[in-house]
Amino acid sequence: MAKRDYYEILGVSKSASAEELKKAYRKKAIEFHPDKNPGNNEAEEKFKEAAEAYEVLSDEQKRARYDRYGHQGVGGASGGGGFNGGMSMDDIFENFGSVFGDGFEGFFGGQRSGGGRRQNVGGNLRLRVKMSLEDIANGAEKKLKVRKKVKCSTCHGLGAKDKSGFKTCGTCNGQGSVKRVTNTFLGQMQTTSTCPSCQGEGSSISNKCTGCHGSGIMDGEELINVNIPAGVQEGMQLNLSGKGNAGERNGMNGDLYILIEEEPHEILKREGNNVVYHLHISIPEAALGASFEIPTIDGKAKIKIEPGTQAGKILRLRGKGLPTVNSHGKGDQLIDVNIWTPQKLSSEEKAILEKLSHSENFKPNPLKGEKGFFERMKEFFTE
Ligand SMILES: [Zn+2]
Ligand SMILES: [Zn+2]
Repeated sequence: MAKRDYYEILGVSKSASAEELKKAYRKKAIEFHPDKNPGNNEAEEKFKEAAEAYEVLSDEQKRARYDRYGHQGVGGASGGGGFNGGMSMDDIFENFGSVFGDGFEGFFGGQRSGGGRRQNVGGNLRLRVKMSLEDIANGAEKKLKVRKKVKCSTCHGLGAKDKSGFKTCGTCNGQGSVKRVTNTFLGQMQTTSTCPSCQGEGSSISNKCTGCHGSGIMDGEELINVNIPAGVQEGMQLNLSGKGNAGERNGMNGDLYILIEEEPHEILKREGNNVVYHLHISIPEAALGASFEIPTIDGKAKIKIEPGTQAGKILRLRGKGLPTVNSHGKGDQLIDVNIWTPQKLSSEEKAILEKLSHSENFKPNPLKGEKGFFERMKEFFTE
């Protein structure tokens, strides 16, 4: 089915201003609104059609594309941010309700009404938590002292000295919102808005609590135990729902966000979920081979350096790295072998080394086809 021209649908000229478009759309939307035309499929189609037209023409860029290329320019097969006629009724209300001002919801029979009593929600809090490498390896339970808004201890969050202090708001009869019917050139419109007398709370307090001046909250602190899973990384955030500031007058609590901060380890370095240790060995150790005890996240480990080990060799201790959050498997500990070249020599040491330097075995003899630095690193970090 060929699509109708968007300007034609809204009944405006091609040079219509934004304001004219809005007015025209409002008129069509009210005319074909499903509440006014129950069970009328044709009206519903027209309602959707008008929304589609308005969706395109109210957007400067889309309108320009439509003017140049027609329907092809704003949707269809390209799907380029266009409108494929797939907008649901909910989408339409969601996107264009504002066109009608606050009153549109009321006009829609209150089905999407944002009216009703306001719910107080406390603010969210954010806290940094330091995690050592050991904490990260094993997961950690952290005891946090959180300074926050808590329920007033005098009135237990009520905000009043006792329940008798609450008076139902006379303006809205406790509804928190007021409805108003106005006559416009489009017909009668019912509008809903927040009650101006009680700011949406539905009641007022005549005997405010002196501890909190009626807010129901006060400064306080709470001890919170958090279990932080193993494998977390710098910058990760955990959300503790309901552990933020208390809401006014027994409202909902806000959330507490825990921001992970990694504490660098003195010796071990984290690389993803691997742990790197830089080992320095002497020239004789490299040539003769040796055993070492090296630190790992969970204690010491023994490793053996083979005779003839070259600088840059990387050894791997499988499974001695870090776990990944919410997943199986563990990284490794990598041992990066460095050879320490002495910087001070006695005359005796000098003499020995000079003698050795003439030996055929001490001449560098890189093995053919030996892997270069980047290949070695790649092999270890991308396995
Ligand atoms: Zn009120
Ligand atoms: Zn109080």
